[in-house]
Amino acid sequence: VRFTFDNNYFNDLYQGIPIGGYTKIIEKMLDGIDVELNTDFFEDKEKWLNIADKVLFTGMIDQYYDYCFGELEYRGLDFEFETLDIENYQGNAVINYTDRETPFTRIIEHKHFENAESDKTVITREYPKAWEKGKEAYYPMNDDKNTELFAKYKELADKEDKVIFGGRLGMYQYFDMWKVIEEALKLVDNLE
Ligand SMILES: Cc1cc2nc3c(=O)[nH]c(=O)nc-3n(C[C@H](O)[C@H](O)[C@H](O)COP(=O)(O)OP(=O)(O)OC[C@H]3O[C@@H](n4cnc5c(N)ncnc54)[C@H](O)[C@@H]3O)c2cc1C
Repeated sequence: VRFTFDNNYFNDLYQGIPIGGYTKIIEKMLDGIDVELNTDFFEDKEKWLNIADKVLFTGMIDQYYDYCFGELEYRGLDFEFETLDIENYQGNAVINYTDRETPFTRIIEHKHFENAESDKTVITREYPKAWEKGKEAYYPMNDDKNTELFAKYKELADKEDKVIFGGRLGMYQYFDMWKVIEEALKLVDNLE
């Protein structure tokens, strides 16, 4: 028996993305600021550490400390993109697949985030994958083992006065967008 026709897969009371997407926000935030792309902090750590009085590091905290207590674990992901010659695939931005048989965990249909109009549609299937060093780390694994290990790195981080560790990799936590923005604003307040 189906009691609801709500096919929304998130429970948050308020849901959405900024008008025009996040790109617009980021463009405005970076207006007039020097940006260097495709630059690995660890290729010239000393240079980046000496570039300013305060450095906000948003990379992996265990890598920053040369994995001195061991490696934190992350969840990896593979994305499979497909452009379909149909107007609508699933009627919703996100559909989760929680059954054993389906190899992907969700399908994103991008046009539904902003009600884009097109006679085509782009979908992305997300496949869970074990994370390997050197690959993109998507989600921290906040189980007991990793939480304990992170606490050791955090103890070192708390003693730094020049470097601030921020974001999902620096703070080793899963954050939704609103939460990571809130954390960034809190950080700025605490610095003042
Ligand atoms: C697959 C996926 C789906 C998600 N879906 C949602 C969703 O539906 N809704 C929602 O609210 N949130 C979602 N999130 C969460 C949201 O995307 C994150 O919380 C947010 O992007 C985290 O921002 P951040 O600044 O902490 O980290 P990031 O966005 O990862 O930024 C960190 C930055 O540091 C840079 N960096 C890292 N290491 C180095 C290095 N060594 N040298 C130089 N630069 C480096 C990276 O390139 C990156 O630009 C999702 C996350 C993932 C991974």
